[in-house]
Amino acid sequence: MAGGWTRDGAVQDQIDDTVRDAVDAARARLNRGPSATHCDECGEPIPEKRRELVPGVRKCVECQSGEDRSVRHSAINRRGSKDSQLR
Ligand SMILES: [Zn+2]
Repeated sequence: MAGGWTRDGAVQDQIDDTVRDAVDAARARLNRGPSATHCDECGEPIPEKRRELVPGVRKCVECQSGEDRSVRHSAINRRGSKDSQLR
């Protein structure tokens, strides 16, 4: 009598996606304080545009997405991606 909940991995992916968006929005709402000028995580300057778009932002795009998706950190080449990020 197990429910059909967990049998489809795609459903979990969808949930993750939705949760990530919701968490991002909730965070933005909760942290309505001043946005950080530099990333809490790596100390990189946070672009002004991002600080406007995400009120109360504490982390740069790279660290934020790494945290939310739990991607393999070692796969990220910080030095290499710094320039391409600004394209
Ligand atoms: Zn960072």
